[in-house]
Order: sequence, then C-alpha cells, then structure tokens
Amino acid sequence: MQKDKTTIEIKQFAASRNACKLCSPLGASMVFKGIEGCIPMIHGSQGCATYIRRYLISHYKEPMDIASSNFSEETTIYGGNRNFIQGIDNIRKQYAPLVMGIATTCLSETIGEDIPSLIGEYESLHTEDENMPIFIHASTPSYNGTHMDGFHETVLSTIKTLAEEGKREHRVNILSGFISTVDIRMIKTIVEDFGLEYTLFPDYSKSMDNPCWKDYLLIPDGGTTIEDLKKTGTSTATIEFGTILNKGSIADRIINKSNIVSGGEWLEKNMYIQNHQIIMPIGIEATDVFMDLLATISGVPVPEKYTLQRGRLIDAYIDGHKYVFGKRAIVYGEEDFVVGLSLFLAEIGIQPIIVASGGESGLLKKELLKRNNKAFADTMFLSGADFETIREVAKEMSPDIVIGNSKGYYIARELDIPIARVGFPIHDRVGGPRIKHLCYEGAQNLFDTIVNLLLDYKQEHSPIGYKYM
Ligand code: SF4
Repeated sequence: MQKDKTTIEIKQFAASRNACKLCSPLGASMVFKGIEGCIPMIHGSQGCATYIRRYLISHYKEPMDIASSNFSEETTIYGGNRNFIQGIDNIRKQYAPLVMGIATTCLSETIGEDIPSLIGEYESLHTEDENMPIFIHASTPSYNGTHMDGFHETVLSTIKTLAEEGKREHRVNILSGFISTVDIRMIKTIVEDFGLEYTLFPDYSKSMDNPCWKDYLLIPDGGTTIEDLKKTGTSTATIEFGTILNKGSIADRIINKSNIVSGGEWLEKNMYIQNHQIIMPIGIEATDVFMDLLATISGVPVPEKYTLQRGRLIDAYIDGHKYVFGKRAIVYGEEDFVVGLSLFLAEIGIQPIIVASGGESGLLKKELLKRNNKAFADTMFLSGADFETIREVAKEMSPDIVIGNSKGYYIARELDIPIARVGFPIHDRVGGPRIKHLCYEGAQNLFDTIVNLLLDYKQEHSPIGYKYM
C-alpha cells in the first residue's frame, strides 16, 4: 500500500525474504577481529558461528577462527555456564588470546544468559592466574538489530571496557565503522599525513587481509592495540564515520538508559572528548568535511597530495558527466554507508531512485533529505527492507544501474542492468576487501567503476561494435 510517492509500507511477512541485513554477532565479530590478540567467541549454537565464518571467509578469503560455546538442547534448558567456562578454558589453551570478545546470540539472549556474571564466575575460579585475558562483552541478539547494531554496540563496549582517563594528548580517535580493509589503510595514511597521533578502531586491515603466511597463525597479526584503545580516553577529539550508527533496535535499550549510542558519544559524555559525527566520507563534499576536520584538529593544512587528488577527481567528474547524468540507480546496504553512497551519486548527477537498507533506525530518509532535499525529493526510501521488496519495487521504476553488495546481483540480472559491487558482502568476485570507497581516491574508483559499467552496458547492447566513445 503506497503512503506517499517516496515511502511505501513494507509488507509484513512472517519471515524476511532474502534479508538486506546480516546477523548482529557478525558485526561484533568484525570489531573483535579489529583488536590485537583478540579471539571472538559466540555464546550460543555452533551454527551461528559457522554462518558468520562462512560469510566472512567468502568475502575476505582469509582463515576465520571464531569460537563458539556450542549450545545443545540441555544448555538451552539449563543455561550455558558450564559450556561458557569450559569453552574459555579450551580457547585459552589453544589460542592464548590477550582479549576474548564475547558476543551473545538470539538463543543465549532469549534464555537470559547473564554474561557479566559468567565472566565474574570464570575469573573467580582463576584468581591466581596472571595471564587472564581481558574480557569484552557485547549484547547482540540478532532479532533486535542488524550487523551494524552489533558492530557499533561492540565498539561501544570495547571503549567502555578499555578507555582510560589521563593527561590529555594531542591525538585523535577515528571510529571508522564497517569499511573495507583498503579504506582502513587509506584513512590511516591520511591521518598520518596530517602528522596526528591516533587510534583507529576497529583496525582489521591486517587481520582480515593478510599477506600469504608461511606458518598458520591461530590469531592473525594486526588489530588496534590495547595500549591505543586505552589512549582513546586521553585524545583531543573523536571522529565517527556515520550519523545513524546504532540508533536501530539494540540502541533503543541503551537510549532509554543513557542516551549513548556510540563509542564517540560515550567518550564525550564520560571523558569530555569532543565528538564529531560525520557522514561517511564518500565523494568530494563529505571528504572535504573530513579533511577540514583533520586540518582543524592537527593545525596542519590539507597536504598538497590531497588537493591534487581532489583536483583530478573534479576533472574526472567533468570528463564522465555526460555518461552518468540523469541515470537512475538502486542503492542498498548498511544505513550509514547508503547515506554516504547516495550523496556521492547525487554529487555526480545520478538519481538514486530507490534507497534501501535492512536497518530499521527509520532515519535513512531524514538524513538524506536533510542534506539534499532536491536530489532525493522523488526517491523511494525502503527502511527495514529485504531484497524481495527491493526487487518488486525496482521492476516498476526502470533503473539503469544497481549499486550495492553482491546479494543484489539477481535483481540486476533480472532487470538486465549492470551492478556496481560495493560494500559487504561480495560473494561472487575476488577483491571485495580491496574496493576503495572512501575519500578522494575512493570516489575516483567508484566514479570510474560506475561510468565504465554504464559504457560497457551501452556498448554491449549497441548494434554497432564501436570502439570510440
Ligand atoms: S540470526 Fe540469531 S540464530 Fe541466526 S545466526 Fe545470527 S545469532 Fe544465530
């Protein structure tokens, strides 16, 4: 049933049909993979850990050790404390982790497992143990949010557990959200080019994107160090990528308690560190905001390297404008990513006709209209959407291109239009972790990819085999 021309009621089905979101502990696992020496443990059934591992391996093409406390029928009825304690013993013997990241599942949350008590019980059984790992617990029932709610909840839990107050230092915290490994490496280089000390969290740029090993590493190298996580409490400022963050279902509980929905907000409230929530820096306008912020915090002007990248990008926009202007795109994915991506598309002259996410914050439309009322005036916004809904709506709207993760491939195939694979997951191509999306370099890559896909489509469908544009 259509409400107005830019909003439709999502039909309520007993089950979602090809969900446009992933499971909450998957987001938690990504964050735990971004902490040095950390092993994630999923407190719940074996199948939850297996599903998460399968998804991550398929995108990252890396070994993916994620432990599970392995619930059975008996555990479900009598509680999982025995499995929890034995599981931690086993993991410690095998992996000797510095940090254990515990994420709950639908099942363990439903039966009301009290993880802080279980951790306390474990520690009380090992009071003489000098090598006790640090425990970080994130509450991530998947029925109450998406992988992004799990992701941000875990960032918040980690910062709450590790940030230490102390003498203020001239450094910056970058909470960069769920971005590709190559984007993480790029952001680190940019911050270093401004001469800033920093903590970027979570940093899975190495642990999820390794060089070829000679010997198998049980816990891959890389990750934000404990020391750097402690220092988040002494930084001058925090920059968070995203404005929606975990304002979805899980956060409702947190909002009700303390109005804190992110690591940056917690640091601001508890340690008085100024927090800057910015749109994910995709495209020129959003990247300018990020660069200006770094220039202000560091006191260093934007390095020439980046003004040159920006100039080349504008030149490329001019060269390719006639091929993209007025094209109609379907965009989907995580809410903050989709906001950044849609603003970039509007910037290059593409009309995002459908903007969709499985996220249920309800803020997608508001965030985009607030920033570009004109470009999104006729856009169809689908919040809490699944791929079947996107497909049904898309069939009526004559799009030219699909832009999102590989799960939307079948829509592009059915409509016989190109798909630009971006974000996560990319299951049907190699190189997903190496897709650049952010800052001027990322915008250059996205622009070239999109223009060339459109040109390729036109060329393939032309009766003449032309060789010049
Ligand atoms: S949705 Fe729930 S039951 Fe399914 S894998 Fe995720 S945590 Fe496990």
